[in-house]
Amino acid sequence: MKKKMISMMLCAAMTAAMLAGCGGNNAADTSAPAAEDGAGEETPEAEAPEAEAPAEENTEAEDASAAPADGTLVMATNAYFEPYEYYEGDQVVGIDVEMAQAVADKLGMELKVEDMEFDSIIPAINSGKANIGVAGMTVTEDRLKNVDFTNPYTTATQVIIVQEGSEITGEADLTGKTVGVQLGTTGDIYVSDMDGVTVEQYNKGMDAVQALTTGKIDAVVIDNEPAKQFVSKAEGLKILEEEFVTEEYAIAIAKGNEELLGKINTALDELTADGTLQAIIDKYITAE
Ligand code: GLN
Repeated sequence: MKKKMISMMLCAAMTAAMLAGCGGNNAADTSAPAAEDGAGEETPEAEAPEAEAPAEENTEAEDASAAPADGTLVMATNAYFEPYEYYEGDQVVGIDVEMAQAVADKLGMELKVEDMEFDSIIPAINSGKANIGVAGMTVTEDRLKNVDFTNPYTTATQVIIVQEGSEITGEADLTGKTVGVQLGTTGDIYVSDMDGVTVEQYNKGMDAVQALTTGKIDAVVIDNEPAKQFVSKAEGLKILEEEFVTEEYAIAIAKGNEELLGKINTALDELTADGTLQAIIDKYITAE
């Protein structure tokens, strides 16, 4: 537990360092945001929420920010990303779902989970179909052009999965190889940006992992916690020690919906301060 806290803090520090040294912005830049609130800062000032804020008040707001009038908080996600969101029977469960439920409780709203392809989440938020995107979604500059993000709720890394006995020992060895990714994810963006690497995009991370198991591809680049789950369910695979990018996950919200953003940030601050968020994470991720 203590070890995990420390490594999480290290991750945060690394993210900050990475951001500070992050010069070259290119189209596929996926570094965390250099938003006004200060890059890598954990707790930017959330706007104080209005005391009373029933969802109906949003009818004046632009379409994309309109919460359903009945006080339902619709969460768009892609439920093939254990331990953050996955099916247990016909129920979507996981860290993101429990966190969103705790946030909805604080807002006095009812949570509704909508499962969809990962790359449909931001369009769903922008069309008003969903109020929030909670999907282990990494804060990136590109995404910030289309949505706002709450304060980050956790850090994560991208890792490389290979077959046991693979000659690939790190990022440098991916040159000339075929690498599987989940479509539209940061792993996809990083690998697509690498010279001399052939990218194979899959709708689900597990599909990429299956392709690796059968030798169709040479490696998979994906987020660390789902990677552990996928590898534990497959035969003969391992995760390389080298973590090549540190990221931050946050909740995506329609641009301009300051009121909801402020309320969710306040809820997240409270859930962090009283230990609820860490307890939810600990329930799904056991410290090594
Ligand atoms: N963290 C990655 C991203 O935001 C992957 C998220 C996911 O597949 N659910 O792109």
